[in-house]
Amino acid sequence: MPAQYQSLLHELRQAFPQPVSDPVHDAYFVFSFLRALDQVDAMKSATPILGQPGELDYPAARRKRIADETQSLEHVTRQLVDHLSGMFIWGHPRAQINVIPCPTIPSVIGGMLPSIYNPNLVSDESSRQVAVAEIEVSAMTASLLGYDADRAGGVFTFGGTGTLLYGARIGLEKALPKTMQTGLREPAYVVCSSQAHYACGTVASWLGLGRDQVVEVPTDSHNEMRICLLETMCRDLLRQGKRIAVIVATMGTTDAFGLDDLHAIHDVRERLVDEFHLDYRPHIHADAVIGWAWGVFNDYDFDLNPLGFRGRTVRALAGAKRRIQHLRLADSIGIDFHKTGFAPYVSSLFLLRDADDLRLISRTAESMPYIGHSGTYHPGRYTLETTRSGFGPMAALANLLLFGKAGLRALLGHLVTMAEALREQLEGHRATHVLNAGHFGPVTLFRVFPDGVDTFTIPERERTDPAYRNSLLKHNAYNRRIFDLIQAEALQGRGVVISLTDCYRETDYGEPIVALKSYILSPFSDEKYINDVLESIWRARKIIADDPVGK
Ligand SMILES: *Cc1c(COP(=O)(O)O)cnc(C)c1O
Repeated sequence: MPAQYQSLLHELRQAFPQPVSDPVHDAYFVFSFLRALDQVDAMKSATPILGQPGELDYPAARRKRIADETQSLEHVTRQLVDHLSGMFIWGHPRAQINVIPCPTIPSVIGGMLPSIYNPNLVSDESSRQVAVAEIEVSAMTASLLGYDADRAGGVFTFGGTGTLLYGARIGLEKALPKTMQTGLREPAYVVCSSQAHYACGTVASWLGLGRDQVVEVPTDSHNEMRICLLETMCRDLLRQGKRIAVIVATMGTTDAFGLDDLHAIHDVRERLVDEFHLDYRPHIHADAVIGWAWGVFNDYDFDLNPLGFRGRTVRALAGAKRRIQHLRLADSIGIDFHKTGFAPYVSSLFLLRDADDLRLISRTAESMPYIGHSGTYHPGRYTLETTRSGFGPMAALANLLLFGKAGLRALLGHLVTMAEALREQLEGHRATHVLNAGHFGPVTLFRVFPDGVDTFTIPERERTDPAYRNSLLKHNAYNRRIFDLIQAEALQGRGVVISLTDCYRETDYGEPIVALKSYILSPFSDEKYINDVLESIWRARKIIADDPVGK
């Protein structure tokens, strides 16, 4: 008589992929997954949401406990599927919500294979060819962005924030050598624009630099760092003998697709190094987690325009390329394949122009940090993480192979064409005002006004003149109401889900400008849905006009 645990063990073995080829069991594995997908599919409707947008019951969640008994795979799957209920379908053409893409099928498979076989990127001994995939993706991306792929090196990490953390840590070691060992004994500064991602502050505090040591350079109306102020503010720091850990160039701001002038930032850095006889070069990190993908246009022939983009699109793509082509001047670059690269979360690459810089953050000084020609690869010697998943590189590799340059050009070109179509309509109407006109990405920020507001002058006055504070606040509230109405409609399957940003940027007198935001990332987006956004706006305006107080 077998012990009781043995029958349980026998049952549980069915829940693992079989170590030795077993086609019948393989079929069970695949079929189990298929059934889960079928169940998710049944949650789809005309709305861009899976199932219903129900309430989230946190008290019930806190009452959950692990059971005594096992549950069947089928039962477990069902409960997992239920947890997707209420999720937005980011790839739905009626979703224009944020910089969240829908992943491609190859990138899902790229991510699933390591989920099954569990390579550990701590070293090539535990990840074999998956380690090679990390090198391949690094080389492909480095050369795409203009780095010398032989000198460059990259490492996948836990998100765009992680890429910033690596950039800042290496920069800090350049500014204050040996602090990996000794710890910080004097302050060092993070310089970025006022439109940079708040991750700059996160990184400063987690590195022990302190958020107070983040210097935010004001931006112009294109959300670009004002270079003359960068120079002044850096000069102030250096004159006081302060050290600069990192200068962050934001190449694609999250809300508006503002692109810093990296070329000019680089010039300022070079000038200051000479002028102050610095014994280090302040590290320049390009936060290109959003903008990197536009690197596919670095060698696109905009005059011939072989892909046949419309005039407005060509101009927007060329406008983005004008800035993105300078990425090669950055000492390091942050890249999110899970943003504009259509990969699942998390797939973020930290890329260094000079892989030798990894030596600075290596755990043991003598160890060769990067794959020299020794034939071994031990990223665990310099990564923050110990165990690292093969998910990121495999998902990224899948999409680089799937798209090539042509595919990414076609996709991004389409998204920008859709955004330009929306901007054209919004610009053409009296009641709407595009806030990020003259920006080149797939995101549009705009405000809607009631009848009788002169949109030729009022938005500008609200932005600059404190006498228009009340007008600004009133229209902030108005746009929130417009958003609520559009949202309610979209959840019923009519119109399009867009989003609301509480502070597109501050007015010159310090008030937040509330804006509606359309972020178009769905490959299924289409002109029809652009018109739907407009119609939804007109319906919302009418409802408010009929009921100005909002009962
Ligand atoms: C999203 C974003 C980040 C943070 O990246 P995660 O992948 O979300 O960690 C940093 N910088 C910019 C400009 C971003 O848009």
